[in-house]
Amino acid sequence: MINGRSYQIQLTYKKMRHIRLRVLPGGEIRLSAPFGVKPALLKQFLGQRSEWIAWQSEQMKTQKRPQKRPPLTKEERQKALACLQPIVDNLYPIVKAYGIPKPRITVRAMQTRYGSCSVNRGRITLNAILTEVPQPAAEYVVLHELAHFLHPNHSRNFYAFIEQYMPDWRAREALLTQTDPANPPSNKQ
Ligand SMILES: [Zn+2]
Repeated sequence: MINGRSYQIQLTYKKMRHIRLRVLPGGEIRLSAPFGVKPALLKQFLGQRSEWIAWQSEQMKTQKRPQKRPPLTKEERQKALACLQPIVDNLYPIVKAYGIPKPRITVRAMQTRYGSCSVNRGRITLNAILTEVPQPAAEYVVLHELAHFLHPNHSRNFYAFIEQYMPDWRAREALLTQTDPANPPSNKQ
């Protein structure tokens, strides 16, 4: 009970320095405390934050937990690939001009990224969510991954390269996060 209202609070003791309080999307309240902290102190800690807790739980109740994306069925994968492969085919000539062999494309339901690039294996993995965002945004991700064959990291040269072939890449990147139905992946490619 905090200030006359009752809450379910999940308490865990951990090797840590300070007490930590979080309200998760959905409204679950988690309290972590260093080993050995006395219940009276926890009660006091919660009492001092009662308004914050009430406010946060209201806010978070209406927020959905980020949904984990289930793996694609074979059919979904084929469908997504059929949608994304033409984008790759269109943009590949940009890096082909630099002698980069055509990468193989894999489509997966990725949780935290829109795409990734394995330079050694000559493979690009694209997040199936790209079939649901506007095409200019998907094109940006594809060019981003293709560019990694020339610039493995996100150096100044990497972005200079992107800028050269896709001067509006910033707007496309913004469009990506704005329109992703399962936003947000961390927006790293
Ligand atoms: Zn990247």
